[in-house]
Amino acid sequence: MERTQLIAANWKMHKTAQETTTFAEELVPLVKNSKREIVICAPYTVLHDLLKALKSTNMAFGAQNMHHEERGAFTGEISSIMLKDAGCEYVILGHSERRQYFNESNEFINKKMHSALQHGLKAILCIGETVQEREAKKTFDVLKKQMGECLSSVAKESMKSVVIAYEPVWAISGGNPNVKAATIDDAEAAHEFIRSMLSDLFGKKIAQETRILYGGSMKPENASSLLRQKNIDGGLVGGASLDPKQFADICNS
Ligand code: PEP
Repeated sequence: MERTQLIAANWKMHKTAQETTTFAEELVPLVKNSKREIVICAPYTVLHDLLKALKSTNMAFGAQNMHHEERGAFTGEISSIMLKDAGCEYVILGHSERRQYFNESNEFINKKMHSALQHGLKAILCIGETVQEREAKKTFDVLKKQMGECLSSVAKESMKSVVIAYEPVWAISGGNPNVKAATIDDAEAAHEFIRSMLSDLFGKKIAQETRILYGGSMKPENASSLLRQKNIDGGLVGGASLDPKQFADICNS
């Protein structure tokens, strides 16, 4: 089955309103012929600027996190209802930086997953092993646990709104150009394993329909070889998504 490839930007804690508008003005003409779906996941404060800037394009936008409760006394938090109201189509859940710096557990991410799906958002679920886990040959065990727990009790019908992002933590650049992406073979092997896990959890059909993105130092130079792999259905792009030209090169690669 044909899966439409998806390229999602993860801007992390970058870009003001003016920078967002300028970025969109530069990006839109550069990607007008891309065959891939394109999504910008931005800070909450510029979602409104993206709504305006992308309105007459077929690009979507989303957030990078949310709280699982609908409303209430959770100072500083944003709910899935609020993201939907702001025009978001997507939300990133379980990014390794949230797991590492904000102690997010699989169980907590699972609560967010249910809330996102219930309120009509599409979730980009990030999973991936640390360097220590890879060296201890625990990569597949970690991926299996993250998938099982983060997707616990998700209905088969809801899986059409779920995208998995395989992001080996050791390959995430954090803006450092010296960090290396996973090799093509290692990335494809992990993606193949994730698809087999999807099959175990939700059946063959859903496993074939679900998109699995690669994230971790994706750049114009390595994008096309990664995106040519059988089980790689797109990319989640951090550092290289901050520059419209580089991001466009990945979208068009
Ligand atoms: C990310 O943080 O999701 C990411 C993939 O970052 P980078 O592309 O900079 O490695």
